[in-house]
Amino acid sequence: MNLTISNLTKTYSNGVRALNDISLTIPSGMFGLLGPNGAGKSSLMRTIATLQDPDGGSIMLDGLDVLKNKEEVRKVLGYLPQEFGVYPKVSAEEMLDHMAVLKGISNSKQRKETVAALLNQTNLFEARKRKLGTYSGGMKQRFGIAQALLGNPKLVIVDEPTAGLDPAERNRFLNLLSEIGENIVIILSTHIVEDVSDLCRNMAIIYKGNLLLIDDPLHAIEVIKGTIWQKTIEKHELPAYQEKYNVIFSRLFAGKTIIHVANPNSPGEGFELVSPDLRDVYFTSIQNHLKKQ
Ligand code: ADP
Repeated sequence: MNLTISNLTKTYSNGVRALNDISLTIPSGMFGLLGPNGAGKSSLMRTIATLQDPDGGSIMLDGLDVLKNKEEVRKVLGYLPQEFGVYPKVSAEEMLDHMAVLKGISNSKQRKETVAALLNQTNLFEARKRKLGTYSGGMKQRFGIAQALLGNPKLVIVDEPTAGLDPAERNRFLNLLSEIGENIVIILSTHIVEDVSDLCRNMAIIYKGNLLLIDDPLHAIEVIKGTIWQKTIEKHELPAYQEKYNVIFSRLFAGKTIIHVANPNSPGEGFELVSPDLRDVYFTSIQNHLKKQ
């Protein structure tokens, strides 16, 4: 199973170019689409989910032309949108049963089994009689996955699912995602680098509608090995360092400011080589893109 996106473009009526000639092949397994807010992730997810049309380009799911066969695609699609509203007065079990009817599972015995299996899989079986309005953020997101998995989809899209979850809920949610299966295409869109490094075998970075990188995270990290340096500085020194060095990002650790600088060799005194992670890849990609502009 492969999803092939070719030359996808989208400009909204207000003039914002949300997708700028995006071409990308997404294989089976968990694929991370990483980018800051406003990068175009939701625009891309909504387009793949057949909810909006691009201005140009094509999307193929194996042999199926996604933009021309929306009904067909919807039968094999599971989608957890960024804003996933639930009916607060309905129980998870009732809601899932209702959604299963909409998905075309008309046999009531089969539906009952499917609903129970999904509630088990998402660890909501005990809470199945509770009204969705009483669910925590993490439970709502797990319910969102349960409904996305109805009807054994071949393509699952989850848009920014971990935003707003506390660390324990986020962990539980990512574990659940990781168990969904290797043989279907799962696209996880997120601005949280750790979501991608924890879960995804393949990834892309998008920024202001442009595709900056497609790679496997471990390889992308390997590529920048030996070029990322860090130094602990005083907070007020940051602007001067940014002026003088190629600072890709700064972070706080134990109240101190630590800068990461990309450079082929040591930038100077006090810098030490670090073992890069996906954050370094992410910020280096964005920095390189901005420099080209
Ligand atoms: P992300 O999901 O990465 O945060 P979006 O796809 O939501 O990015 O947005 C990409 C850009 O398109 C942003 O500048 C956003 O303001 C703009 N945008 C998104 N949806 C619309 C819309 N319906 N009308 C106009 N502009 C939009």
